[in-house]
Amino acid sequence: VPECANSLQIYAKDKLSCQMVELFEECQQQDSDLARKELCRTRLQKDIQSVFGVARLYLTGSSMNGLGCRSSDADMCLVIKGNKKPDPIHVLSVLQRLFKSLPYVERTHLIRAKVPILRFKEKGSDLEFDLNINNTVGIRNTFLLRSYAYADLRIRPMILVVKKWARHNRINDASKGTLSSYTLVLMVLHYLQTLKEPVLPSLQRDYPDYFYPFMDIDMVPEGPKHIPPYRSRNESSLGELLLGFLKYYATDFRWDRQVISVREAKALPKNNSQTWRNKFICVEEPFERNNVARAVHEKMKFDAIKAEFAESYRILQDRKDLNSILPVRTII
Ligand code: ATP
Ligand code: MG
Repeated sequence: VPECANSLQIYAKDKLSCQMVELFEECQQQDSDLARKELCRTRLQKDIQSVFGVARLYLTGSSMNGLGCRSSDADMCLVIKGNKKPDPIHVLSVLQRLFKSLPYVERTHLIRAKVPILRFKEKGSDLEFDLNINNTVGIRNTFLLRSYAYADLRIRPMILVVKKWARHNRINDASKGTLSSYTLVLMVLHYLQTLKEPVLPSLQRDYPDYFYPFMDIDMVPEGPKHIPPYRSRNESSLGELLLGFLKYYATDFRWDRQVISVREAKALPKNNSQTWRNKFICVEEPFERNNVARAVHEKMKFDAIKAEFAESYRILQDRKDLNSILPVRTII
């Protein structure tokens, strides 16, 4: 039995909480998964440096933030330092040509989004990559999320279950107008920060030097190593927290008036600025302070998201069985 399962026992004395621990243990990214991604990163960085000499490749997203599962893709950021900013589409086009000549890469595909990405696969496996150019905020927030993920034992199982629940209920796809995984994670952290007895603090407030927004990017991965676990007085079980999370967004949170700020560990009043005006869901990016939930721009999708919180809360409150909102066996 893994050590973390033992220590998690104190938060898993009821059936629902046990089911959450079980799902977490089955699905969480394994060391071997990360090692595969890291090996690919090293090879890619070496091949990329034959064209862009000083470029550095960073793994980001759920592969690195402690919130990944076995099937998670590998998000990456290529950092090219220099006086003039390179055009991301140009760089990605050059990389696309290079990648077509690499024996361990296949299905290279350029996506011209607000943050353009090159999507590709490792040949002969299911491992998928999303690579961006110089979107360094993704490196900063990956290590902020990683610090939250390890601040309390309950965070990783809680978030993994919420991500699986959202995906199962088709509200976890920003390209289809619903919530990105990143948005969901910030929503969970916000709930845990604003409980009467908080499970999490604001790490940006408590450790400003480790999360200084303009820190040299090479130093960013160091931060989390120095942060001790947070000692919360909240002893709620995993099941209680999951139920509370659904309830918070089903009944307490005021979507029309409040902005979720993990940076400040509270809900901020919505003002009339460009960023928040006419937006259905407002979730502040902890470093850039823009809206990470701007993909939710259709009333229909917004209503579907709220309905899912309400319906799942109603069912789970009644049944206290994870299978009632997420058929665990079909997911593992
Ligand atoms: P999954 O396991 O589902 O792949 P993920 O944690 O990788 O989840 P994504 O939503 O795919 O989450 O985002 C990957 C990473 O990209 C995030 O961890 C974050 O670093 C960055 N990111 C995503 N959306 C934004 C955004 N709106 N602003 C800034 N950074 C973002
Ligand atoms: Mg990802």
